[in-house]
Amino acid sequence: MKAIYPGSFDPITYGHLDIIERASAVFDELVIVIMSNDEKVGTFSLEERLNMVKEAIKGYKNVSVCIGDGLTVEFAQKIGASVLVRGIRAVTDYEYEMQLATANMTLAENVHTVFLVAKPQYSFLSSSTAKTIAKNHGDISAFVPKNVEVEMLKKYK
Ligand code: ADP
Repeated sequence: MKAIYPGSFDPITYGHLDIIERASAVFDELVIVIMSNDEKVGTFSLEERLNMVKEAIKGYKNVSVCIGDGLTVEFAQKIGASVLVRGIRAVTDYEYEMQLATANMTLAENVHTVFLVAKPQYSFLSSSTAKTIAKNHGDISAFVPKNVEVEMLKKYK
């Protein structure tokens, strides 16, 4: 079964990678989709995010990454994926994710949202948290892979 894991990945963190590792064990094929979002200007360009994800997922044979636009469910249908993976960190994620999953269910009956729950050590971790720490020259090595840390240090030097 083919699944997509859509998101901003601005940039990818160990929290995302944990979801990727577990989803790649459950599904035959996992495609990470970096969604371009007109309302949210990213810190990193889509290409920069793509390159960081590519490097971070080198060890996984059944995981790939691409840039997507438009409706996530339509993108899933276009590439033949029937599952949409999302991660849930805390109750605060739940309401937003429920809204999104319900809307997606209404738009496309044949695309199923599957939630994976964050590991406790990553349940506080978001791309924004990592960026705030990096901006203030804190140590982010526990939050993002080495290649991402290097890119973040460049961005905030
Ligand atoms: P979006 O802007 O679509 O929320 P993100 O890149 O912030 O994009 O997140 C993509 C998905 O990964 C979301 O489902 C989010 O809840 C999940 N996620 C983000 N950080 C973590 C984490 N630390 N642990 C588990 N899931 C996470």
